[in-house]
Amino acid sequence: MRIAVVGGGIGGLALALGLQQRGIACEVFEAAPQVKELGVGITLLPHAMRELAALGVQPELEALGIENLESVFFNRWGQYIYREPRGRHAGYGVPELGMHRGKLHGVLYRAAVERLGAAHVHLDHRCTGLQQDDREVTLSFEDATGRPHPCVTADVVIACDGVNSAVRRQFYPQEQVAFAGINTWRGVTVHPPILGGKTYLRIGSIDTGKMVIYPIVDDVDGKGNQLINWVAEIRSADRGRNDWNKPGSLQDFLPVYADWRFDWLDVPRLISTASEVLEYPMVDKDPVPRWTFGRVTLLGDAAHPMYPRGSNGSAQALIDAAMLASLLGERGDPVAALRQYEAVRLPATARVVETNRTVPPDFIIMKADELSGGRPYEGSIDDLVSQEELRRISDDYKKVAGFSLEATK
Ligand SMILES: Cc1cc2nc3c(=O)[nH]c(=O)nc-3n(C[C@H](O)[C@H](O)[C@H](O)COP(=O)(O)OP(=O)(O)OC[C@H]3O[C@@H](n4cnc5c(N)ncnc54)[C@H](O)[C@@H]3O)c2cc1C
Repeated sequence: MRIAVVGGGIGGLALALGLQQRGIACEVFEAAPQVKELGVGITLLPHAMRELAALGVQPELEALGIENLESVFFNRWGQYIYREPRGRHAGYGVPELGMHRGKLHGVLYRAAVERLGAAHVHLDHRCTGLQQDDREVTLSFEDATGRPHPCVTADVVIACDGVNSAVRRQFYPQEQVAFAGINTWRGVTVHPPILGGKTYLRIGSIDTGKMVIYPIVDDVDGKGNQLINWVAEIRSADRGRNDWNKPGSLQDFLPVYADWRFDWLDVPRLISTASEVLEYPMVDKDPVPRWTFGRVTLLGDAAHPMYPRGSNGSAQALIDAAMLASLLGERGDPVAALRQYEAVRLPATARVVETNRTVPPDFIIMKADELSGGRPYEGSIDDLVSQEELRRISDDYKKVAGFSLEATK
């Protein structure tokens, strides 16, 4: 069976590694001419870690990231709302890790080159389109200068080419990304550990301006400082291009946070001393009725782009990859395997896309804000809302996304 994987990002490389584990060869075609450690922070939740552990890369990832101890929510005045333990500290069999997305990608890329062989991971191959008949698929590629490569034929093609997927565009030519009216800025800052240095923090809500903050590298400078990843989310009529590498400007969002100075964190200082700032709009796409078209299917962000909140982009791509590798590993009819994969994963991920739009994890903060009339609360948070009720919101999200404690056992 000749399998072509289009896109050597997190989903494509995980799929290639999963196939290789089952003794199935594949060719990976990645548009980028070189693999660079791009992006900023990414959080690997237990369902993502379970799949990465199965690929044998957990020890390497643990050495590169930071294991979260807890997740804590505050309102925009820095008042405590809710906390819960995370990963192994919450009883999961695997850790929850914060790490640099580029480092995760690097680990998967090196594993793929080592296990598949460098000759099977083709860089500088941007897929420009495909055609298929009853027997095979023919793929067209070009290099970064626009020069065409020879066409490639395969029995099965899995498009893992990300949110702006060229393959998906071929099946859904009129489709546009959906913009939520929210823009995000992401950055990394060398900073002393915040609240003990193993905490995933959410502060504020989209109505007040929101920050997500977590550490991704320990003792980054030999002086005990950490590399802290942060994401600022603000309502905005402007929609930037959805390019993960687009540089951002401090003046576009820093003023919203000017008075976010708490006794436990100075937010404007954290933001303004960043070594790198990137801008990305809150975009996703409406779920589509089909991913599988004959011998071709979609995977990861190409199949189900979702708002980058809730840390589920990489997790859902990794679960897609694991399921598809397993179905193709049964060595039955590969076209039937693609259909079966779609039947399970399309409805499951459509629910995550929808929940990220309507009841994301930070709904906890919105709920507390609503109850306090959008003002700082007096006395104790327990007088406003019980921790039990907030835990229910958190647990409901975990169930939809597939990482409740029971689901990952
Ligand atoms: C450069 C970059 C930086 C990112 N930074 C962050 C971040 O900081 N935080 C975060 O949470 N998420 C980030 N993401 C998104 C995150 O990696 C994905 O949401 C998630 O991992 C799902 O994985 P995926 O494999 O579906 O998509 P991706 O990881 O996006 O991989 C898609 C791959 O396909 C390649 N590709 C695109 N078009 C073609 C084509 N026509 N032919 C061949 N190859 C193609 C891309 O170069 C990329 O390597 C980033 C993605 C990219 C590409």
